Formats: sequence, C-alpha cells, structure tokens
Amino acid sequence: MDFYSREIEGKRTHDPLFVEEMKTTSFSSSSSSRRVYVPGPVIVGAGPSGLAVAACLKKKGVPSVVLERSNCIASLWQLKTYDRLRLHLPRQFCELPFMSFPSDFPTYPTKRQFVQYLEDYAGRFDIRPRFNEAVSRAEYDPTLGFWRVRTKHANSGSSGGGGGGEGSTEYVCRWVIAATGENAEALVPEIEGIGEFGGTIKHTSLYKSGREFRGKRVLVVGCGNSGMEVCLDLCNNNASPALVVRDKVHILPQEMLGKSTFGLSMWLLKWLPMRLVDRFLLIVSRLILGDTSHFGLDRPTLGPLELKNLSGKTPVLDVGTLAKIKSGDIQVFPGIKRLKRHTVEFVNGRAEKFDAIILATGYRSNVPSWLKEEEMFSKEDGLPRRPFPNGWKGECGLYAVGFTKRGLLGASMDAARIAEDIERCWKAEAKHCMPFSTSSSS
Ligand SMILES: Cc1cc2nc3c(=O)[nH]c(=O)nc-3n(C[C@H](O)[C@H](O)[C@H](O)COP(=O)(O)OP(=O)(O)OC[C@H]3O[C@@H](n4cnc5c(N)ncnc54)[C@H](O)[C@@H]3O)c2cc1C
Repeated sequence: MDFYSREIEGKRTHDPLFVEEMKTTSFSSSSSSRRVYVPGPVIVGAGPSGLAVAACLKKKGVPSVVLERSNCIASLWQLKTYDRLRLHLPRQFCELPFMSFPSDFPTYPTKRQFVQYLEDYAGRFDIRPRFNEAVSRAEYDPTLGFWRVRTKHANSGSSGGGGGGEGSTEYVCRWVIAATGENAEALVPEIEGIGEFGGTIKHTSLYKSGREFRGKRVLVVGCGNSGMEVCLDLCNNNASPALVVRDKVHILPQEMLGKSTFGLSMWLLKWLPMRLVDRFLLIVSRLILGDTSHFGLDRPTLGPLELKNLSGKTPVLDVGTLAKIKSGDIQVFPGIKRLKRHTVEFVNGRAEKFDAIILATGYRSNVPSWLKEEEMFSKEDGLPRRPFPNGWKGECGLYAVGFTKRGLLGASMDAARIAEDIERCWKAEAKHCMPFSTSSSS
C-alpha cells in the first residue's frame, strides 16, 4: 500500500467526520484548489434523487457528501419551473423514501409545497449539500482504486458546506452517485432564421407566468406536459397562444372513473397485460376527451404505456388545455419551417405573425460532460445504457439515481438499491478495518 492509500485508509478508520481535508503536497498547482477525502459516497446533484439516496444511505449509517452546482436544493423545481406547476402525478407516487407528504397537502401538491416537502426532507435526514459546486469532471483512478471528483466553485457567499471561495476542489472517494437528472440542461432546437425573429424566444425553463405575455400572440413549440400547460397558462392570462405539434402524442385525462389515470394504470397492470391496459386507457380517453386527431393531435400507433416503456415518451395528462384547443382559444400548427421577422413559416406553407415563442422542447442529461467513463452511460443521450430496472449500477463504485424515465418513483427505487449495495461494501470494509480502529471516537 502506498503512502497516499495508507493515508486514506487511516482517515477512514480513525476519523468519523465524513469530510476530511487532506494535508498533502502532491496536489494541484493552483493555489485556490484543494483535495478532500470523503470516506463515503459522493452524490452529484441535490435534486429529489440526490436527496433520496443521501437519506437511504444515512438510514444505513453510511455518510455521504452531496455536491450541487446551484445555491439551493431541487434547483429545477425552485429556479426553472413555471409558477402554476403542480406535481403531474398524485402525491402518493411522488414521495421520497421514509417520509410521506403532510396529510393536509392536496392530491397534486403545488411546486411550493413540493419544495417545502424537499426542504423538510433534507432537514429530517440532516442532508447539507455543498452548494455552488459544479462537478466538472469525475474519473476513476485505477491505480489508487478511488474516484477523483473535481468541482468548480461558483462563488463563496452561500456555500452550505463550506466550499469556500472561487477555485476548485478534488474529492477523492470510493463511490460516485450521479444524480444530476434527466433534465439537467435545456434542449433548444436549431430553427432556421432564429436570429431574424426579433421577438422574445425563451425555453420553458425560463418561463414563469403568462402575465408577461398579456395581449400577445405566443407560439409554444412542443406538446409535452409542459408545452400543454404553458398554453393553458397563457390563455388564462389573456394571451393568444398557439401550439406546434410536430409528432404524434397520447393525451389522457388526468383522472378517469374518479381515480388518477396514473394510479388506475398502475393498479390495472397488476392484473392485466400492458396491451390490454392501453386499450382500456384509450377507450376511456376517447369517451372523455373525444377523438383528439380532430384537433391536430394524432395518436401514436403504440399505446401510451407501451410507448412509455419502449421509448420513455410520457403521455400528456390533460389539465384543461384540450378544452381550450377544442374551443379554438389555442390553435394547433404543424412543424416550423423557418422564422422571419415576427413571423413563423410552418411546414404546411402557412405563415403567421407572433410576438413571442416559448420552446417547450425538453431537457437532456449532462452526464457525458463531466463523467469520464465509457461503459455505463451513453454518450448520445447521457442516460444509463442498461434498461430499467438495471441501469442504477456501473463498475468500480459508480451508480446512477433518477435516470429511469419513471419520475420520482423510479428515483426512490434506485436510491434504495444503491444504498443497500453500498452498505454491504461499507460494512465489509469496516470489518476489514477493525484492527486499526481502536482509537476511533465513532
Ligand atoms: C415540469 C416537470 C414536472 C414534473 N412532475 C413530476 C411529477 O409530478 N412526478 C414525478 O414523479 N416526476 C415529475 N417530473 C420528473 C422528475 O421527477 C423531476 O424532474 C425530478 O426533479 C427529478 O429529480 P432529479 O433529482 O433526478 O433531477 P433534478 O431535479 O433535475 O436535480 C438534479 C440536480 O443536479 C444538479 N446538477 C446538475 N449538474 C450538476 C453538476 N455538474 N454538478 C453539480 N450539480 C449538478 C442540478 O442543479 C439539480 O439541482 C417532472 C419534471 C418536470 C420537468
């Protein structure tokens, strides 16, 4: 064992603190960078997934360090979502492990309530992320048998865990858990003539409310849950929205037969094959919503659950937008061909004037930008290559939480599995280290 490994071994056994700065000189040349040894796992991202896995580990007695690029937990929900957002799924399907929502919360909690729940969750499990630390690189060092996780500090002011000042830190650890989410970066499509348009163009991650578009003609590009809901919000704020629908889409009522469509589907799947459940969903949807193709919203050939299962494409749960499309308050257009000054030309040859464009074009994972490994994550989409439920574990102590395209429920499942797996290793190593740990205060 070389000096460096011995040092790490010693820190782990003698020091119950979970972060210990290494007083070593074999260190980066920059004066403002430092190296920190973490005995437990490093979790990258303090969204719901990162919090869930930190809590599961805590329950098993494994300390972890959570690194977060922004200055708060759940930055997607706090900083990048619109005001009227509520959970799309009923609250019982969105709870993180070991803590229910307060009983006075509605079936679909508001984003403020959800954020409060997450704050309370972090408090309950004493999870204190190191804020303003963006992971720029994580790489396994086969010689050492450890991961090196490098962060850049955004600023010094509000760093919860004492990241402290401009510069960088290298965390050295046995386990790395990617929890940066499927929605880490806004996906902005290339549209011909985008520079000529002249009006506001913004991604939904920057959209807050239709209030700022009162009286304006706004084109919303993309008909997922966010695009549909932004259209409704614009309508409710006296703007005139139109919706670009390029692909086929399944729209389902949020509730059917007095139950949430999601809950009912989960229940039916216990007894019936997916194809049959899909047929049931489509028949009831048609009875409630009518034939959506009459309004320019063609359905895919595969049923909603089969499609979700095969491609990850989520059906839209209608919260009132379809009624506005039927009434003509929201117009539907096909794909965009190009933009001109305040004008959008569509692929069917039509051209219309608009004041603003909202891009509800989704998000992508950013894992390939910081994780230096070839096996576990696909370079193309930044998601684990192995399909659900096997994408959570990679090689050499690498894990992924929250990349299942199954929302918070999927993240909770990943979190529990990861914590169990790491606990096994942690306990085995603790046993192995026993002879040296007599002076430990833990
Ligand atoms: C509008 C919307 C509504 C949704 N509604 C529901 C719902 O009702 N029910 C449901 O189950 N799911 C829902 N989802 C899907 C999903 O559950 C949420 O997106 C959830 O926030 C995912 O949690 P996460 O922790 O995996 O990712 P995120 O919430 O995106 O958190 C990832 C964190 O990682 C940080 N990060 C990213 N890169 C780095 C880096 N390099 N270094 C350090 N930190 C980094 C980010 O700042 C962020 O805080 C919704 C998604 C969206 C977009």
